[in-house]
Amino acid sequence: MKILVINCGSSSLKYQLIDMENESVMAKGLCERIGIEGSVLTHKPTGKDKYVLEKAMADHKVAVQLVMDALVDPEHGVIKSTDEISAVGHRVLHGGQVYSDSIIVNDDVKKVIRDCFDLGPLHNPANLIGIEACEAAMPGVPNVAVFDTAFGQSMPEKAYMYAIPYEYYEKYGIRRYGFHGTSHRFVSGEAIKFAGLDPKTAKVIVCHLGNGASISASIGGKCVDTSMGLTPLEGLVMGTRSGDVDPAVLQYICNKEGKDVNEMLDILNKKSGLLGLSGVSSDCRDVQTAQREGNKRADMALKCFDYRIIKYIGAYAAAMNGVDAIAFTAGIGENDADIRKSICDGITYLGISIDEEANKVRGEKRMISTADSKVKVMVMPTDEELAIARETLALVK
Ligand code: ADP
Repeated sequence: MKILVINCGSSSLKYQLIDMENESVMAKGLCERIGIEGSVLTHKPTGKDKYVLEKAMADHKVAVQLVMDALVDPEHGVIKSTDEISAVGHRVLHGGQVYSDSIIVNDDVKKVIRDCFDLGPLHNPANLIGIEACEAAMPGVPNVAVFDTAFGQSMPEKAYMYAIPYEYYEKYGIRRYGFHGTSHRFVSGEAIKFAGLDPKTAKVIVCHLGNGASISASIGGKCVDTSMGLTPLEGLVMGTRSGDVDPAVLQYICNKEGKDVNEMLDILNKKSGLLGLSGVSSDCRDVQTAQREGNKRADMALKCFDYRIIKYIGAYAAAMNGVDAIAFTAGIGENDADIRKSICDGITYLGISIDEEANKVRGEKRMISTADSKVKVMVMPTDEELAIARETLALVK
């Protein structure tokens, strides 16, 4: 069975065609600048040359059609006909409080995705357009919505409520939702298997450290807390996002600099984090290069990044009254031995000891704690597309 995975952004569309017989990627690619001048499709069929097509894409519907054409193209394609695609799995940012699992799309599901436009203004409209474009291009083929917020739906009230007047929760659903859920669910599940833990009771902390970064605590594969909130701004220090700040900071800067709340949110989302602190870059590797060259602010930015993670791990170990395994994933978590070491050096009180040789690993699954470490610590690569494809398969099989 072949499953197409689609991830639509406001002007982009990423895709992967996965053969579920052996979970292999047959082709993947990206449409960029949809709806703006200079649209381009980059298609990478496995085992064949990359194919780049510069062609106007007025909207996501056109982009989906170009993806279909590339997939069946006699030269660059990997299938004979789109009839070979059994289902399409869509990454959808926000499912509000309605969906705690993936679901086959029907009119009710589309209504919920639409109702959540206010909660995910950049992503949900694009996600819905992607679904409707696939419905039009492949009539009768089931579409599955895989929500980024689904994993966080098992959080208890005490973890998801903000201590603000209750009426805002009742009126607008203001609460913590959590994001990167597909990755957290996938990595925590794989971590339990890899460490040979009891799938019903295992206490796992997943550190998803990429450009966007978040951390989750789960017991028996069910999320009990996670660091992102109503939006992906809360929690860890990220590439350009501040993570946790005192909300009064907004008012103070607004008053001093004549800015409004929207401008401040733009600053907290796009100009803060590693970028704002270091003044160098949002990319961790650039900041590390500057640190090695003696840049003090770069050094401080990286220390803030690590420190916030150390604090969250402590909080989540406390929230679960223990932790059996900690998994590092995403760009930084999978590749950066220095950051992993510096975090683990801050949590030795948990009985953690790291095998420095094993910790040199990049981008592959590996236990990096020593045999006598009380908590199993590992690198566990995330694969959100495969996770979406698996959830899609489970629903349409
Ligand atoms: P996102 O998907 O959120 O855009 P990624 O998971 O791709 O982010 O992670 C991007 C981050 O990972 C960047 O800060 C980058 O510097 C870091 N990164 C990627 N590869 C490496 C590497 N080999 N060593 C250290 N950091 C890396």
